[in-house]
Amino acid sequence: MKNKIWLSSPHMGGGELKYIHEAFDANWVAPLGPNVNGLEQDLATFLNENVQVAALSAGTAALHLALIECGVRAGDEVICQSMTFSASANPIAYQGATPVFIDSEKDTWNLCPVALEDGIKDRISKGKKPKAIIAVHLYGMPFKVDEVMAVANRYDIPVIEDAAEALGSTYKGKSCGTFGRFGVLSFNGNKIITTSGGGALVCHSEEDKEKAVFLSTQARDDAPHYQHSHIGYNYRMSNICAGIGRGQMEVLKSRVDARRKMCDFYVDLFKNVEGIDVFVAPNADYYSNHWLSAITIDAAKIGITREDLRLALLAENIESRPLWKPMHLQPVFEGAPYYGGKIAEKLFENGLCLPSGSNLSEDERTRITDSIQNTLKK
Ligand SMILES: *Cc1c(COP(=O)(O)O)cnc(C)c1O
Repeated sequence: MKNKIWLSSPHMGGGELKYIHEAFDANWVAPLGPNVNGLEQDLATFLNENVQVAALSAGTAALHLALIECGVRAGDEVICQSMTFSASANPIAYQGATPVFIDSEKDTWNLCPVALEDGIKDRISKGKKPKAIIAVHLYGMPFKVDEVMAVANRYDIPVIEDAAEALGSTYKGKSCGTFGRFGVLSFNGNKIITTSGGGALVCHSEEDKEKAVFLSTQARDDAPHYQHSHIGYNYRMSNICAGIGRGQMEVLKSRVDARRKMCDFYVDLFKNVEGIDVFVAPNADYYSNHWLSAITIDAAKIGITREDLRLALLAENIESRPLWKPMHLQPVFEGAPYYGGKIAEKLFENGLCLPSGSNLSEDERTRITDSIQNTLKK
């Protein structure tokens, strides 16, 4: 059997071990230390805005703390893009709140501003104004920031930007993760850079960041003994993981370039194939890190389904994956309100993510080309 070609695998830069050794030498083997502070500074500098960053144990933890800081409590409603990974929506349930799911639009596959406004109006008419909006930059593609923010501002609802897949992406030259009241980043093993597991909350005030750090370190009041007046969490990032992150930050720009080249590779591969479209930016305002390259397949035109292609690649030991199954179609969220049409549903039926790693070799790309061309010939 040939080596497995993964959808997206960790890609170390070489500098990571230096920071880990420093942590061991200074005995900072704990969920605090110089690497944690250093990574937060590196991220704030990279995002290139006046932001404060809190390094956490996961992107999911960052979303949870963002909801808490937005005042979401049991019985509240929170709007969430339906087409996403379940981690975008699960923290709503952690708070005992109800998710209200919204369809995507065709250009960016992200939150549809029209369905968003319909949903907000309808929830308000039913007696509850949503407490927050979770908008996602799917696969690194920025959502329609101007349109979504305009709707959110019209109703004065805070936006939590799920930029877990979009570190290095920009909209009109500004970093994804810096537009909302809070931004969420992830450094899970499959993301564009990794700390093995980790995440961060992007804040716009020192106060918001301090609150996130306080809640993520068990909410200890200022006292010599252990005194608590809030429920706390153990969500802080470890200084070892942060060391990996600091090394990864040194190569982030080249990782973005490599992922974008993988997307160009697929654009070239499918350029004369009628019935397969590669997911690309609608115009120059949108700069995607192309964390994952994705295609949609028109089975009526080309005679194969996305499942046919997925299985053909799997037979060659090449991993591919259907697009995220929308949350309003997930058994666990059955009965949650939903606004919009069938755009997310159709994307799920016809869409496939292809190997996108920054570490794929020329040989591996040739294997991908051969497998796909052989499948299309049949
Ligand atoms: C990965 C991911 C998350 C969760 O991040 P973790 O660090 O794995 O907890 C949240 N939202 C989206 C869209 C993601 O892709």
